[in-house]
Amino acid sequence: MAGDESSGRNAILSLLGSIKALVMFESENCLHGVTPSVWDDRVGAQVKHRVELPDAIQKPGSVKAAARQAPVISPSLNLFDAPGSGAGLRAGTPVVEKKSHPGRERPDPEKTAASLEALRLEIGENCRRCPLAGLGRKRVVFGVGNPGADVVFVGEGPGEDEDRQGEPFVGKAGQLLTRMIVKIGRKRNEVYICNIVKCRPPGNREPAVEEKKICGKFLERQIDLIKPRVVVALGKTAAMYLKGMFDVPPAGFSIGKHRGSVEDYRGSMLLLTYHPSYLLRSPSASGMVEDDLKKAFSLAAGDRPA
Ligand code: SF4
Repeated sequence: MAGDESSGRNAILSLLGSIKALVMFESENCLHGVTPSVWDDRVGAQVKHRVELPDAIQKPGSVKAAARQAPVISPSLNLFDAPGSGAGLRAGTPVVEKKSHPGRERPDPEKTAASLEALRLEIGENCRRCPLAGLGRKRVVFGVGNPGADVVFVGEGPGEDEDRQGEPFVGKAGQLLTRMIVKIGRKRNEVYICNIVKCRPPGNREPAVEEKKICGKFLERQIDLIKPRVVVALGKTAAMYLKGMFDVPPAGFSIGKHRGSVEDYRGSMLLLTYHPSYLLRSPSASGMVEDDLKKAFSLAAGDRPA
């Protein structure tokens, strides 16, 4: 009898040990970011994945050994395969965080903020690297917004209000941009906003090629530091610059012809749309810009480019 009780107790203890090992294993791996289910936008639901547990998990008392062994989770999601094709589900590869632009590593926003501040100080408040320094500008307008932004807006240069306040897109056109961002359910402080040139061209003329070439290096460094998923060019000048056409005459180029397409810019997805100052003159184009903004945020959230 005593032997039966003892073997029964051992069986229960063994079972409890197995349960504990499983709970600890799952808990520990979730802490390391590996979860047995992943949200799949294609089906609009959490997708369960088969988890192959390491052999060691089968033995109570060997939890540490089990935790050291990486589980194989299959299948992983490839968000760029056609919905319903099943081609995106491939066994034996680790689950990766959903990314809108494959391979784009997102930097630590705190480090980016520090690096952006270092760049701002490097440019200086009295930068004289290009002719715009001597043409009546009051302030160097560096850029503003979230250093961890998924979406960065780029305009051509500061206007009168921006020159006075030292912040991009705060005049009438900027306020319209902010209203449109809010209208589609987003906030201005979740994006980053900057310009090709940081000083106001006199009379709001288009920046000269030399000015764009010199100051544009700073824009490139801003983009490289933030590494956004999406860059939105606001207006023709910014669009042409970001497409590498900054010394090409603008004849024949129009936002209307090129908006809607997605291309690469320094590892980000580049979208073109109208400058908000154009919308002040042509409010009927607002719907198109609204669509472009929605598309930018949707791509930044991981949707596949059409
Ligand atoms: S536009 Fe740029 S490069 Fe030119 S003076 Fe201003 S900050 Fe310097």
